[in-house]
Amino acid sequence: MASSSSVKIRTAKPVKSRSDRDLIFGDLWEFDPAPESADPKLKERYDLFIDGKFVSPKGRKYFDSINPANEHKIARIAHAKAADVDLAYKAAKKALDGGWGTMPGRERAKYIYRIARLLQDRAREFAVAETIDGGKPIKESRDFDVPTAAAHFFYHAGWADKLDYVAPGRKVAPLGVVGQVIPWNFPLLMLAWKIAPALAMGNCIVIKPAETTSITALKLGEIVQDAGLPPGVVNIVSGFGDTGSAIMTHPIAAKVAFTGSTEVGKIIMRSIADTDKKMTMELGGKAANIVFDDAPIDQAVEGIVNGIFFNQGHVCCAGSRLLVQESVAPQVLRKLENRIKVLRVGDPMDKNTDIGAINSKEQLDKITELVDSGVKEGAAMFQSACKLPRKGYYFKPTVFSNVTMSHRIAQEEIFGPVLSVMTFRTLEEAVEKANNTPFGLSAGVWTDKGSRILKMSTELKAGVVWANTYNKFDPTSPFGGYKESGFGREGGRQGLLDYCKLV
Ligand code: NAP
Ligand code: MG
Repeated sequence: MASSSSVKIRTAKPVKSRSDRDLIFGDLWEFDPAPESADPKLKERYDLFIDGKFVSPKGRKYFDSINPANEHKIARIAHAKAADVDLAYKAAKKALDGGWGTMPGRERAKYIYRIARLLQDRAREFAVAETIDGGKPIKESRDFDVPTAAAHFFYHAGWADKLDYVAPGRKVAPLGVVGQVIPWNFPLLMLAWKIAPALAMGNCIVIKPAETTSITALKLGEIVQDAGLPPGVVNIVSGFGDTGSAIMTHPIAAKVAFTGSTEVGKIIMRSIADTDKKMTMELGGKAANIVFDDAPIDQAVEGIVNGIFFNQGHVCCAGSRLLVQESVAPQVLRKLENRIKVLRVGDPMDKNTDIGAINSKEQLDKITELVDSGVKEGAAMFQSACKLPRKGYYFKPTVFSNVTMSHRIAQEEIFGPVLSVMTFRTLEEAVEKANNTPFGLSAGVWTDKGSRILKMSTELKAGVVWANTYNKFDPTSPFGGYKESGFGREGGRQGLLDYCKLV
């Protein structure tokens, strides 16, 4: 597609024609609300989880966590300072030396299995808490986040007594105490990705959730208590960037694991460059989802929708750049627009909602600024005609066509429900455009030809390449990036290797 300098914005019109009416029933039928009713058992105040107990922060400072769906305050969260982080590390070191690291794997496994089962027992409560605190649709927290988090604990519990097979021919030992910092897009799941392999390997942990989504992390502290883990094995300290920085730079940390933005990842790497700490970095992404002309188009459209609108597009591996072969581009775009018209945007607690609330005002402003730049730079914008709730942070599902590689919306991570569409003619052009980014986390390929899938997955500089599907996650599959998307892997045997030393 040629780029255009004129500004084109189209919003879906109310349905008129009979064929459209048949297709887009959502405009004609109003669904009754279907609110989830489980009790999230929220507390008014959440303290730090250090040495097996909930304790107030030294400075007695708390901050508010709000529900981004309606801007209501839901709880006060403890702000840990460096002194609190220090206590957490000392507790973790004591637990490590007290026997967690040398305990037989089969014994450690019992604790991790218990965490998994207790999380399953409280799954509905955790799903509701996750949705209220972070804004994601209840059907996602209920059917994806919480079950996948439990699956990570089950999977890694299974490894704990088989560590002799992690690095065949070599013995492995824990690294020691590890410091971990996670983002707000999959709060509980990222916590599980970090904690489960570290525990299985016999490490002790100091971890910080993101400031807007600390509640399920601190609720997991209750599960850690109920599972009977020795005090200090897992320490959960909430707070802001200063808390994160204190965790990453603490002298006791043998390894630091960070998931978040490339910008903060670089700050952390600089701050510990002169230490011998091990590091893994899971950073940003700008994935290409590539549709060839022989792809099953209807399935591909579903994959495109899932790739960019899952979790409001707050997904590091989101398929945020659609590369579609020129000959099928008009057909794909038409089907995509029709599909977007029926996406239900609104109350995340409604079981019918497809797209919930943007996690914070700050993130909404960032998305809005980048979308405005797309319009200014001449891309053509299509938005759903859906009505957004008056309170809360929401953004309409958005598709830009006529995008060129130099547009900011083609280069920068938007981290919202915004898709940039470009076209290609040949496989070589698709590879070149897909790899033309500083990131390299993930990619998708849609084609009928197995040989083309194999060729593309070799040529694409991305840690994960999905073929004829998108956004599939499993604890057995290593996940991680190339280039500015970071290094190290989480999940599978490879993920365990990042939490041990070879002896
Ligand atoms: P972020 O701003 O980098 O924050 C991530 C975490 O780091 C938060 O807990 C944050 O604390 C903390 N932090 C901030 N400054 C810090 C510092 N100087 N030292 C240590 N920690 C610090 O990222 P975000 O906006 O939360 O998350 C979105 C980003 O994460 C996106 O770029 C996304 O692609 C990436 N991400 C990557 C993956 C992956 O697996 N590759 C997965 C999910 C997300 P507070 O926010 O609480 O202040
Ligand atoms: Mg919140």
